[in-house]
Amino acid sequence: MKKSQTTRKEAGRMNGESSPKHICPLPAVLAAASLLVCACVATRVPDPTATLAQHKQQPVCALTFDDGPGRHTVQLLDALRSRNAHATFFVLGEQVRREPQVVRLIAAEGHEVDNHSFDHPDFRHLSREDQQREIDATQTALRSLGIEPKFFRPPYGDYDVDTVRAAARDGLVVVLWTTDGKDWKYHTVHALEANVERELKVNIGGIYLFHDVHAWTVDAMPSILDRMAAQGCRFVTLSEYLAGQPEAATARPQG
Ligand SMILES: [Zn+2]
Repeated sequence: MKKSQTTRKEAGRMNGESSPKHICPLPAVLAAASLLVCACVATRVPDPTATLAQHKQQPVCALTFDDGPGRHTVQLLDALRSRNAHATFFVLGEQVRREPQVVRLIAAEGHEVDNHSFDHPDFRHLSREDQQREIDATQTALRSLGIEPKFFRPPYGDYDVDTVRAAARDGLVVVLWTTDGKDWKYHTVHALEANVERELKVNIGGIYLFHDVHAWTVDAMPSILDRMAAQGCRFVTLSEYLAGQPEAATARPQG
């Protein structure tokens, strides 16, 4: 297994994502609002003003779990099912090949399954062709299970314009997150719960990043779900979340 790392960036590389980055050329208002849906291809993106207003009325929460499926994923599915909560899983193609039955179960229980690359490279260090291969291989693995992903989340949140174009060739829109649960940083249930509690005091609603490959994340999720539900969170898939956002802007590939 991968050994623990000490720096924040390295921890992200070993355990999931680092803090969200946004190197895609977006309108400043979107970047400033940390709305991390890339608009480098023609697509709907959230209106930040409308989103904030909506959150004050009824928080809509899209929980996303990256890097799986793993050995804790079925336990997470139990927690979600018992609370009638739907989520989105950004899976790795290599894990899909290892655990196809878990991927089928995720989809069968009404969750969304999307593309997180084949083996979690940093896309900024890949050629255009290798980026395409990473995305294509996971698409093929998921389609063999009858699953058609809609979104691509680049590992670590790092990408460039070639990534957006490669995703678009497979009909995928690049989506990051609005709130990082930081389960790559907090490695105990208590610490992770405390971090999420701090986040909920600042803002509630949006796209939440977690990793279902961590035992502490899956162990903490029942209480996190209950805390979020107590504050009015309605748990939706990423597609449902984005469908509820007003159309605000479109953009074309740059360069
Ligand atoms: Zn990841």
